[in-house]
Amino acid sequence: MSVLFDPLPPVLIPTADGNDYPVRRIFCVGRNYAEHAREMGFDPDREPPFFFTKWPETVIRSGGVVPYPQATDNFHYEVELVVAIGKSGRAIPVEQALDHVWGYAVGLDMTRRDLQLEARGKGRPWDTGKNVEASSPIGLLHPAEALGDATKGAIRLTVNGAVRQESDLAKLIWPVADVVAFLSTLYRLEPGDLIYTGTPAGVGAVVEGDVMHATIEGLAPLDVIVGASAE
Ligand code: MN
Repeated sequence: MSVLFDPLPPVLIPTADGNDYPVRRIFCVGRNYAEHAREMGFDPDREPPFFFTKWPETVIRSGGVVPYPQATDNFHYEVELVVAIGKSGRAIPVEQALDHVWGYAVGLDMTRRDLQLEARGKGRPWDTGKNVEASSPIGLLHPAEALGDATKGAIRLTVNGAVRQESDLAKLIWPVADVVAFLSTLYRLEPGDLIYTGTPAGVGAVVEGDVMHATIEGLAPLDVIVGASAE
């Protein structure tokens, strides 16, 4: 008896304090900034947050390349605050939620928008639009003290030097504590779980050669380029 092929290696994200954070699961929040909800055609009433998931191996580190994926002509950026869970818990009260946060990073929820919108229109799952190879770039992970309760701070994305998305964490419809508390009513959160908390307005497409520079006040920037078509 033997292992038939190499199992997946762990996905590790470097941390600002010189360690590696092993990724377990990736959760993403949809429509968590009012202006983005409107640009996608929705009324941003404070409906409960909703979630989709991505595979851990979609992570790309800062400085890396995102190969242009197959099966799309409309590959979009979405700059987001990423929450990294450090302590397990189920049905976590909102006032205790931040105790479960290990830290924060800048992330990009790269999206095959054409496939996502087609699925949305047909009432189908978003998986092929969202859970895309190399679709989860993430910057250096900072211990939570870097952002405190993460209720404010400029968030911004430039592409080839031009500002494309610019907002503030204060505009999150559901702030971090609420997102963690709500998600923990659906799953027991575990150390290694990442939560991409949603994107502000201004989403748009990139093409091969584009340079993306994503920042959140207080965190290391995230830099990735769009590469040639995925092999
Ligand atoms: Mn997103």
